[in-house]
Amino acid sequence: MLAAICVWLLSGGAASAQAIAQAGTGQRQAAAPNGERPQEKTEAETAGDSRDVAATQSDRPSGANWAEMQRRYKGAFVLSGPKPSRQVALTFDDVPDSRYTPLVLNVLKQQKVKATFFVVGSRALKAPALVRRIHDEGHAIGNHSFNHPDFSKMGIGGMSEQIRSTEAALQRSVGFVPRLIRPPYGEIKNSQLDWAQKQGYTVVNWDVDSSDWRQLGAQTVFLNVTRSVRPGSIILLHAGGGTGQNLYGTVQALPKLIAWLRSHHYEPVTLPELLQLPESK
Ligand SMILES: [Zn+2]
Repeated sequence: MLAAICVWLLSGGAASAQAIAQAGTGQRQAAAPNGERPQEKTEAETAGDSRDVAATQSDRPSGANWAEMQRRYKGAFVLSGPKPSRQVALTFDDVPDSRYTPLVLNVLKQQKVKATFFVVGSRALKAPALVRRIHDEGHAIGNHSFNHPDFSKMGIGGMSEQIRSTEAALQRSVGFVPRLIRPPYGEIKNSQLDWAQKQGYTVVNWDVDSSDWRQLGAQTVFLNVTRSVRPGSIILLHAGGGTGQNLYGTVQALPKLIAWLRSHHYEPVTLPELLQLPESK
């Protein structure tokens, strides 16, 4: 916990964001205009209070209203699954990462939990064996762009190129093209959702944000999830990070989090199972 806090204080938001923006891609990416953009913006950030994660669904920094988009693109833009069951989905973004992804996979195997991993294509090209391991161990795979740009700042052509490049990488490593897309930072425009819907994709964001990218300690990650989770929740976590980014809090929180979910009669499942969709397109 202390180590994580120290890393966060030493690196600072801007430094971390810069590291993340360049991580895993081998090339520079456009930094956000203010240079301080974190890897995944959160509802909490909008509110300035991490305790209000669930209450601030709309009103994204980009102006996007996720609840409204979920209504408009019913079935094509999803924040959570059906409420009647107590199924929930653990989702891990920014994989593969040789530091954290194997640790997360080890915990999931030990706990006998299947989760969903959103793959960054440029990272998949560098570590195809790790992507295969995710697939071979029974987890679901989704598309998280090729090099983690903000889709809402691109046209449909740029976004579709990001999707297709990652599909090519996944076709080589696991032999299929995923149906599920998670846009970096959760940011996407209506015109892009139109395209995704017509192309037969399902865009999946989340309704529970662990904020683990902030390099939180295990207890904080645990509390961020357990105080917001409800039946059908889609939980945002990370199993990959930028240079120097510390995600050990996520790894350490997982066994306790899974135990808590089960003791509260939640059943962790993959997104295809929660949403009753095929994994591949
Ligand atoms: Zn991401």
